[in-house]
Amino acid sequence: MTDYDLIVLGAGPAGVNAALAASAAGLRVALFDENRAAGGQVYRAPAFAGTTDDSAERQAGDALREALAKSRVSAFLGHQVWAVTADFQVDAVGPQGSLSCTSRALVVASGTTERVVPFEGWTTPGVIGLAAATILLKSQKVLPGKTTLVAGCGPLLAAVAAGTLKAGGELRGIVDVAGFGDWLRALPAMLARPDILRQGLAWAWAIRRSRTPLYARHTLVRVIPEGERLRAELAPCDRAGRALPGERKQVLVDCVAVGHGLTPATEITRLLHARHRYSRKAGGWVAITDDCGRTSRERLYVVGDAAGIAGAAAAAEHGTLAGLACARELGAAAGSLDPALGQAQRRHARAARFGHAMARLMALREGHVQGIAADTIICRCEDVTRGEIDAACDAGARDVNQLKAWTRCGMGPCQGRTCGDVAAELLATRLDVPREAVGIFSARTPLRPMTVGALTGAFVYADIPIPKAAPL
Ligand SMILES: Cc1cc2nc3c(=O)[nH]c(=O)nc-3n(C[C@H](O)[C@H](O)[C@H](O)COP(=O)(O)OP(=O)(O)OC[C@H]3O[C@@H](n4cnc5c(N)ncnc54)[C@H](O)[C@@H]3O)c2cc1C
Repeated sequence: MTDYDLIVLGAGPAGVNAALAASAAGLRVALFDENRAAGGQVYRAPAFAGTTDDSAERQAGDALREALAKSRVSAFLGHQVWAVTADFQVDAVGPQGSLSCTSRALVVASGTTERVVPFEGWTTPGVIGLAAATILLKSQKVLPGKTTLVAGCGPLLAAVAAGTLKAGGELRGIVDVAGFGDWLRALPAMLARPDILRQGLAWAWAIRRSRTPLYARHTLVRVIPEGERLRAELAPCDRAGRALPGERKQVLVDCVAVGHGLTPATEITRLLHARHRYSRKAGGWVAITDDCGRTSRERLYVVGDAAGIAGAAAAAEHGTLAGLACARELGAAAGSLDPALGQAQRRHARAARFGHAMARLMALREGHVQGIAADTIICRCEDVTRGEIDAACDAGARDVNQLKAWTRCGMGPCQGRTCGDVAAELLATRLDVPREAVGIFSARTPLRPMTVGALTGAFVYADIPIPKAAPL
């Protein structure tokens, strides 16, 4: 007998909606997340009680948390999942120590990792991810810097810029690898969700009113510390993201928030050997699924951004779809779920149209990666440079796991989440082969860095039973 019918991993919009739909259909559901409150990245709860915020995201997050609190879902928040086995045993560490439980089915809703295409000085203190800036603004209610430059591509640029202005920060510029034409091409798809488009236009209006300089089709080439501040150097770039020769602009700031899109968090679906494919538009490697997120592994589902970048609105609908589909597969309230499944499918298609257009704006651009200098660090955990990756490739490395063994690229605490995508792109480019050919880092437990002490808990050494010596 398993502990639950379904375990959902990740309490963002995708995971919470999957858990709610499956629980309402009659399944015994457990939900795990390492954060202390549900909401995921986009609806992240403030770290301190009593903070006020009238934003649409805060309201949507509060509604999600309230629905979860009223449901029969067993929520294990503040629990870091470090292992998942093929028979769906989930091992986690929480405030009370280790916890293991089993289920008949698993929905993975583990979200994304931010991608930063390295440039000279990207590891300098004061240079942070765009996504990290959203955490500071939403959760800690802290400005990334007194003066900030935001750079990279995609909708998080506008979100961080507008959030910084709203919080009273000073913006010194927005550097966008995309051009105005790229945004215009995305407009028809954005009309699929006028409510989200309205929010985007409100951000654009706030940015325009602040008279912040906008550097479209530009890229960050260098950040150099100057006293306690940072001097950022910008260059115009081509559509592929390659910096062009010509006049460099200099901007002096306290903080540079930079991000070049998101990559799906596929550690768990890879660990469980579901079949995957590479899709640049979806953000990288993704599990092969049907509309409801059902993978090639029986009773294993993946939803939301972990299944391919499509944004928060699509993640919520995708979660509902998977929760209902899983309930039907496990025999709960069969038949009566069909109308709800049909409606969720239509709502998901509309939201995903919007989300896919945004994901295309953030897709990795090949010229951008090719322009990385030889002495620039790619793997920041292990200090591996582009030159070392190129050398390993010239010496015979043919896939990313060989590259990892030879250079230690991807072997540090982040387990390749930060560098993996760019390292694979560099290898594929140098070998002149498609991205699929160089593969992806093997997924391994523990899924998150953790101490042995967290697993063992407190113990008295003298209490450890010592087996008697075996008779000779
Ligand atoms: C740092 C960051 C900030 C972002 N900020 C924004 C934003 O401000 N606005 C926006 O529109 N989009 C933002 N995004 C994009 C955003 O993730 C999505 O579009 C949306 O939140 C996707 O929802 P989801 O439910 O698929 O995943 P998420 O919301 O990412 O939820 C996934 C959840 O899984 C949990 N999780 C993953 N692995 C484990 C594990 N091993 N153990 C326990 N828990 C685990 C995470 O803690 C997280 O809460 C951000 C992305 C990142 C990476």
